[in-house]
Amino acid sequence: MKIGILSTNKNLYSTRRLVEAGVERGHEMPVINHKRAYMNITSHNPSIHIKGENITGIDAIIPRIGASVSFYGTAVVRQFEMMGVYSVNESVAITRSRDKLRAVQLLSRKGIGLPVTGFANSPDDTEDLLQFVGGAPVVIKLLEGTQGVGVVLAETKKAAESVIEAFSGLKANFMVQEFIKEAGGSDIRCFVVGDKVVASMLRQGKEGEFRSNLHRGGSAKLIKITPEERSTAVRSAKVMGLNVAGVDLLRSNHGPVVMEVNSSPGLEGIETATKKDVAGMIIEFIEKNAKQGKTRTRGKG
Ligand code: ADP
Ligand code: MG
Repeated sequence: MKIGILSTNKNLYSTRRLVEAGVERGHEMPVINHKRAYMNITSHNPSIHIKGENITGIDAIIPRIGASVSFYGTAVVRQFEMMGVYSVNESVAITRSRDKLRAVQLLSRKGIGLPVTGFANSPDDTEDLLQFVGGAPVVIKLLEGTQGVGVVLAETKKAAESVIEAFSGLKANFMVQEFIKEAGGSDIRCFVVGDKVVASMLRQGKEGEFRSNLHRGGSAKLIKITPEERSTAVRSAKVMGLNVAGVDLLRSNHGPVVMEVNSSPGLEGIETATKKDVAGMIIEFIEKNAKQGKTRTRGKG
């Protein structure tokens, strides 16, 4: 097969591993820089081009879209879908999971465990919002943040009010969440491929840090997850419509709660912590499932 990897940097660990795993299995693995791709949107023969070259003959794509290029990146994924190319994660699923509010709303409809979350527009409603989530301490997060940036722990009511006032003043969209203290600055990354958790790791924030992001100095180790955690992760990926997802859970005293569902989960941390060939499992999934025109979102945007 010819499997395109949408990535802006072919030297990144995840990109390199996917190329390697595909080539090992006899596939052609072009890396397509979605930032440089441009498209001809036409009814009968939509196409994608890079530096004058028409990109053709691609059987499937693996989107690795960074948060800073969500809009353009998902447009390129969608264009491939319009051309009938199978995408392991569809554009609409990527868009859903990128917006933290939209994601928790969709997950809540399916009864998935979540930290109690409030969302409002007017600062006049702050009092009520804080009450919804049980009062301070609370976590306040920007809807489109990533790698722990834009996630704030407000330990007192006063601190929460100031942060909310500041975010509102900047016209930034944010949500307010119950603080899951008992997680102790750790979370569980479940790597889902298809309908299975193929690898999982525990991430622990560095000393004094409530955010477990590896980018914030957290460390990772192998962990055995419970059947409830496993099914929560698989169901969450399914609700988003993602075939490949990194589902982040916290262990709360009311069971596993989902933090977020990542549509381009990194491979380095999880492969290093678990010694598993996760890249190979993604390629195998594509071998079994990729078919021309097999995109559920066709015609529905
Ligand atoms: P990002 O997309 O920036 O990674 P997250 O929502 O995943 O944002 O939050 C970053 C980290 O902060 C999480 O991995 C978790 O360790 C911690 N965290 C976020 N929300 C909460 C919460 N409600 N309670 C406890 N810890 C939280
Ligand atoms: Mg996160």
